[in-house]
Amino acid sequence: MARTAWVDKEQCIGCELCVNTCPGVFRLDADGKSECYDSTGDSEGNIQTAIDMCPVSCIQWKG
Ligand code: SF4
Repeated sequence: MARTAWVDKEQCIGCELCVNTCPGVFRLDADGKSECYDSTGDSEGNIQTAIDMCPVSCIQWKG
């Protein structure tokens, strides 16, 4: 079972770095905040890269 990534939308500034890094995993919602819509949409390594790149460190693994 793949781990699930989770975005704290209160902290997200909508910079789109995670969206550009893992477009199969993250997308911006109607409010311009990132959300994880498919944790299986990319490798855990690439998701970790997106987590590490987030300028406000608001993406976490859950579970
Ligand atoms: Fe939001 Fe972080 Fe993704 Fe930027 S990298 S859109 S701040 S979750």
